[in-house]
Amino acid sequence: MSDVQNLRQIKGYSILAKGDIPVMINKENFLVPSQLNHSKYKVIHLDGWTCEYMNFIKRKQLCKHIYTTKKLILKT
Ligand SMILES: [Zn+2]
Repeated sequence: MSDVQNLRQIKGYSILAKGDIPVMINKENFLVPSQLNHSKYKVIHLDGWTCEYMNFIKRKQLCKHIYTTKKLILKT
């Protein structure tokens, strides 16, 4: 895992540590609280992971919201 990805993973876990727990809408859709403002980002888990946050759309890499959700539901 690259340093950048490693950092995103740590940021994702810090969201959980703060007590901002992703909300499960159903088994494929989650809302993850933002650390920067009061908005929530939708994370979708189908064959792979996607996040509506623009960074993810641009980079096609897992973002902190995805790491947060993965940690919560997959316990990894
Ligand atoms: Zn995201």
